[in-house]
Amino acid sequence: MYKKGICAGLLLPLAMAGTAPAQKRDYPIQPVAFTQVHVNDHFWEPKMEVNTNVTIPAILALCKKNGRVDNFLRAAKKLDGDKLSEFPFDDTDLYKVIEGASYAMQVKKNPLLDRQVDSLIAIIGAAQEPDGYLYTFRTVNAKTPHPWIGAHRWEKEEELSHELYNSGHLFESAVAHYVSTGKRNFLDIAIKNADLLVREFGPGKHTEYPGHQIVEIGLTKMYRVTGNQKYLDLAKFFLDVRGPKGDPYNQADKKVVDQHEAEGHAVRAAYMYTGMADVAALTGNQSYLNAIDDIWGDVVNKKLYITGGIGATGNGEAFGDAYQLPNMSAYAETCAAIGNVYWNNRMFLLHGDSKYIDVLERTLYNGLLSGVSLSGDRFFYPNPLASMFQHQRSAWFSCACCITNMTRFLPSVPGYVYAQNNNDIYVNLFMSSSSNIKIPNGRVNLVQNTEYPWSGNINITVNPVKTEKFTLRVRIPGWATQTPVPGSLYAFASAAKLPVVININGKPVTFTTDKGYAVLNRTWKKGDKITLDLPMETEKVLANPKVKDDLNRFAFERGPIVYCLEGPDNRDSLVQNIVIDKNATTQASYNAGLLKGVEVITTAGVSTKRQVNTDALLTTAQPVTAIPYYAWANRGPSEMTVWIPYEQSAASPKPAPTIASQSRVTSSLKSTRMNNAIKDQYEPADSKDNTYPYLHWWPKKNSTEFVQYDFNGEQTISQSKVYWFDDGPWGGCRIPASYKLYYKKDGDWVEVKNTTPYEIAKDKYNVLTFEPVKTTAVKMVIQLPVDNSAGIHEWAIK
Ligand SMILES: [Zn+2]
Repeated sequence: MYKKGICAGLLLPLAMAGTAPAQKRDYPIQPVAFTQVHVNDHFWEPKMEVNTNVTIPAILALCKKNGRVDNFLRAAKKLDGDKLSEFPFDDTDLYKVIEGASYAMQVKKNPLLDRQVDSLIAIIGAAQEPDGYLYTFRTVNAKTPHPWIGAHRWEKEEELSHELYNSGHLFESAVAHYVSTGKRNFLDIAIKNADLLVREFGPGKHTEYPGHQIVEIGLTKMYRVTGNQKYLDLAKFFLDVRGPKGDPYNQADKKVVDQHEAEGHAVRAAYMYTGMADVAALTGNQSYLNAIDDIWGDVVNKKLYITGGIGATGNGEAFGDAYQLPNMSAYAETCAAIGNVYWNNRMFLLHGDSKYIDVLERTLYNGLLSGVSLSGDRFFYPNPLASMFQHQRSAWFSCACCITNMTRFLPSVPGYVYAQNNNDIYVNLFMSSSSNIKIPNGRVNLVQNTEYPWSGNINITVNPVKTEKFTLRVRIPGWATQTPVPGSLYAFASAAKLPVVININGKPVTFTTDKGYAVLNRTWKKGDKITLDLPMETEKVLANPKVKDDLNRFAFERGPIVYCLEGPDNRDSLVQNIVIDKNATTQASYNAGLLKGVEVITTAGVSTKRQVNTDALLTTAQPVTAIPYYAWANRGPSEMTVWIPYEQSAASPKPAPTIASQSRVTSSLKSTRMNNAIKDQYEPADSKDNTYPYLHWWPKKNSTEFVQYDFNGEQTISQSKVYWFDDGPWGGCRIPASYKLYYKKDGDWVEVKNTTPYEIAKDKYNVLTFEPVKTTAVKMVIQLPVDNSAGIHEWAIK
């Protein structure tokens, strides 16, 4: 049961990013609550304002428009009919927006938003069943129930019903709302639901494990605000009941304590590792710690993108194999990046080592921030590291998880700046801010002044209420010393590094480092000034050679920011064809007018182009500009690459002037977006290769389609070579049922007289030779398979 006495003391924000109540056992290090950290910098503050002023209102409106509120109104019998939105986890979108709104209201009072949130909470409460069950997709009692829902509660929880996932987000949101506003209306709904779970689940009761983890994190937060031990016990039960008979997709093929590698769906995994850390901290369970320590090592050594993204493959939205880190097809879901921040923050709170904040910071400034546009109203679900125009941000996805996750995450950023362990204050992130921190013998105000991440100069003014001896542990980022990322996955091309310099009151100090922190232990008095100078230079980062997708390539990095080349800044709007020497010198300069103000890197490179009848590439010198990765795709679809070839062999040259490459492509596809993929001269490794763009007709099947070349003038031709796209057995494309080749003769289409049979085979060029014809156009007419679609990698004409 909830106890009034405990809660009153907990109005101090604690759970989301906050300090702890007097639990028996907890993280040895506690974050300084985001409410105590007032950020006023030029980087994060504007982004949080955009989140409050643009993202939250836009996403609230889109949630309404897309049936998220109607689901609750129908469950509450305040709206007729049984129409529901698309997914049984859609309830969580509203929970996450309320969570984001709660944080935002704590940063800045907002009575209008407060009223809106209260009216939504009233609707949610009305949709709750009398015993606490809250899941609109069952309560609405649709005539045709969603296929993911069983006939009874929890029946399909281990598969896809997401009943406990909805509860987990409900708990997180309700705790955030309570902590931010002090109001109980949402928390009481959450308590009623959590009490139901306590009654229904446990040894001798229901033993289904959560199909999509997060209820574990939610329950530990509920435990923190209410002090109800049963919530913590249930969180532990939900971890222990997992495996070994389930599926690796949701980390249920082994007991959680027997898992030592990252596998399966990346968001589920990151939430589970976070939940394991929470329960380990609150119970002292060492075997959870051993498991997540090993898994963390597996991720940073084998499965982490340079952007901090995790979950390499769209196949199951999952971690790939070791070193499987494709760039153009990278999944790196925004939710997984957010989960990675949650998890690494917990790992730091457990171990006090800055290497976890190195991963957190990398993710935050790169693969997480890329998930939202600078305007705040366009989003990425996957965050690829290379593009050939096929990626574009979207205002909404029918599966809106990433959008609402971003909405709730951004206003919580200040909660990651500081942490403390009694008299030790950890300075983890650098952003201009003013913060008030309670220490055992008093209080200290810390003021940061910096232009980070563009400058490595950080000024911290220390203002204890009274002169006091305590320790400041100032993080020396890995990027400022020798290791861009902890582990063996990435290294700087140049070993030379300028030293990190710390001055106190204008005088250089020698300092010891411990677990990646400069330890500054002294008697501090009001107005003491620390100046930290981190050597922020443009670096070239190399990947472990086992990552084949990054071979003979480097990535630009400057401080915590990973860079990319994007079309709009470079010649002919192309970047895939660019090669830059490994020793090229670079310049960095701040451009206030570009992409809301970014530091830009410029250098010299060459563009490459294929030639007819020789493998040698044609090269032309050109200037090259790189921008921060997080800011790409704010100027429409474009070419983009993070990993830049330093060897011509790794480049993707412009096509040679062949009949095909100089032709105009048309097809039976409505969109022309994929047409040019068939003449770009990128050779696929096999039919299922999705490294480079290809043309496909999915989701069409069993229909007759065409693709056509109109030549640049009249040509005499006698051969066609086509390489089919086929992503079986998992994907929806197979080699076609049949095809025919026609040429244009006096305005009519005439079939060629073939001298070899029409071959249809995977993983190779299908060559068709025919009696020579003189013509201006050819057309392939393709019969799609009965149950699948088809696609084309390349089509050449001779
Ligand atoms: Zn997502």
